[in-house]
Amino acid sequence: MADFDADVIVIGSGAVGSNAAYELAKEGISVILMEAGPRLPRWKILENFRASPRKGNHNDPYPNLPWAINSFTEGYLEQTGSFDLMPGMLRLLGGTTWHWAAATWRYTPEDMKINTLYGVGRDWPMEYDELEPFYGLAEEELRVAGSDSEDQNGHGRDMQYPPRSTPYPAPPEAETYYFKRLKERLSPEGYHFIHEPNARPTISLQGRPACTGNNNCMPVCPIGAMYSGNMTAEKAEDEGAQILTEAVAYKLETGEGDKIVAVHYKSPDGESHRLTAKYFIVAANGYETPKLLMMSDVANSSDQVGRNLMDHTGMGLQFFADEALWPGRGPVQQGGIFNWRDGDFRKDHAAIKHSLSNNVPNKVVTEYLLKQGVVGSELDEQIRHLSARFVDVSTVFEMLPHPENRLQPHPTRVDALGIPTLTIHYDVDDYVKAAVPVVKADYAKFVEVMGGTVYDDDTGFQNRDHIMGTVIMGDSADNSVVNHECRTWDHENLFLATTGVIPASGLINPTLTAVALAIRSAQIIAKEI
Ligand SMILES: Cc1cc2nc3c(=O)[nH]c(=O)nc-3n(C[C@H](O)[C@H](O)[C@H](O)COP(=O)(O)OP(=O)(O)OC[C@H]3O[C@@H](n4cnc5c(N)ncnc54)[C@H](O)[C@@H]3O)c2cc1C
Ligand code: SF4
Repeated sequence: MADFDADVIVIGSGAVGSNAAYELAKEGISVILMEAGPRLPRWKILENFRASPRKGNHNDPYPNLPWAINSFTEGYLEQTGSFDLMPGMLRLLGGTTWHWAAATWRYTPEDMKINTLYGVGRDWPMEYDELEPFYGLAEEELRVAGSDSEDQNGHGRDMQYPPRSTPYPAPPEAETYYFKRLKERLSPEGYHFIHEPNARPTISLQGRPACTGNNNCMPVCPIGAMYSGNMTAEKAEDEGAQILTEAVAYKLETGEGDKIVAVHYKSPDGESHRLTAKYFIVAANGYETPKLLMMSDVANSSDQVGRNLMDHTGMGLQFFADEALWPGRGPVQQGGIFNWRDGDFRKDHAAIKHSLSNNVPNKVVTEYLLKQGVVGSELDEQIRHLSARFVDVSTVFEMLPHPENRLQPHPTRVDALGIPTLTIHYDVDDYVKAAVPVVKADYAKFVEVMGGTVYDDDTGFQNRDHIMGTVIMGDSADNSVVNHECRTWDHENLFLATTGVIPASGLINPTLTAVALAIRSAQIIAKEI
């Protein structure tokens, strides 16, 4: 150990990197957890939110520094494709889960075998059973609340699916009136409503308070009920990991036997520093991880780094129902309709999930009314009336990996430290487009059954903030970046811990899976050390 600055250096302190660091630190392994952004206490973020006039901008309360720029900053992401892929991405200790929605689904065995079953996309290079125990560990760390008795495949079977060896750490939250009434009226039409498992515990667990339904999960949970990566980063620190903030990694150095021997990083003053370790884990999220690899010219013998970019590109429907449903009470989403999660249709079109967004709708409704010239006491009355009836369906599509959908370090643009920004090329494929008529038919049905008046039933394609595929996992060094352990094919001591490794997107939010994989990689490294 004396020859190295640490046994393991983890680059990126989001939920994924922090879980890898914690797992290693618990084993007594020396760890440096490197983070480009600063460390901020929750109260400060909350104060920033209260002071911000742009309450709808989830990034606004968070730091946006010249050396750690967030993804919405103009000029940071150059788009060259037909769709602007602009995922929200934060740069501070804990990363983007400070303002996620905390949905923590598991993939199913079918999601992981999509090519074998349906002849499209790529299979995972591992079975669900291999990942299953690590899902349990990830759910434990994130304190996931969920139902132990639902068929999450959306087939309406009276069984728990996918299979679990451990129960959810906390029971599911009670249904909001909004969710309950939509379910009561739409279920008779054959729609299967599934409860969302999420990292907002319904009971107070090991210092985390129970969720009290403040509906502020995005941009910040005021009481720290919703999980964010900083919680695990700080636990790693308690176990002895060293946290190094405001340190932007810009190069991985290769040595003998193609091993990575050092990481070079810059501090905000522009000074360059070098740290050595036996193992390196890059966990700088699905965009910055491949960028760092490409800037360092490592791990890319397959030419797949940065390619196969997937999101769960989505669509939306908003309408006013014929009865008051009172959205905006309780957490920001509770689940949705899963009929199109799995089946033979996946040979022809993308899987589809309809989530019921439960955001406070007053702002949208007010803007809608003002555009129509409604003012004064009539405006007040109409806001009350329509906000209570607002239904917001947020749909996501399964994506397939295409090498042409890619990101690269920008050839000319750089940030304040002289580090390249990103250029993105992204097109929505025919697999998704073939699913649009199915979505439109569902939308028409929802509106009809709920006696609705449409506010917007064609939002066009939308971002869903899930970055996958960019350092794709596979069973061959020829066409993938990492193997089933998330170890790079090219460098035996370099692991990647990010949603970017996910080779088949399915339609579920990917963070829990990346955390499960990171815990597994950390255990593999711990054994080798
Ligand atoms: C509004 C919103 C809602 C979301 N809701 C959900 C949801 O409900 N469920 C779900 O599963 N996912 C959700 N996501 C996605 C989720 O936030 C991400 O998948 C998750 O944060 C990824 O975790 P990560 O640790 O890989 O990356 P991040 O959380 O982005 O953390 C990466 C960290 O690495 C640091 N870093 C980057 N580059 C460097 C570098 N060069 N050197 C040092 N440090 C670096 C960054 O500063 C950052 O702190 C949502 C995202 C958004 C924006
Ligand atoms: S609903 Fe409120 S208390 Fe619950 S996680 Fe969201 S912000 Fe926190």
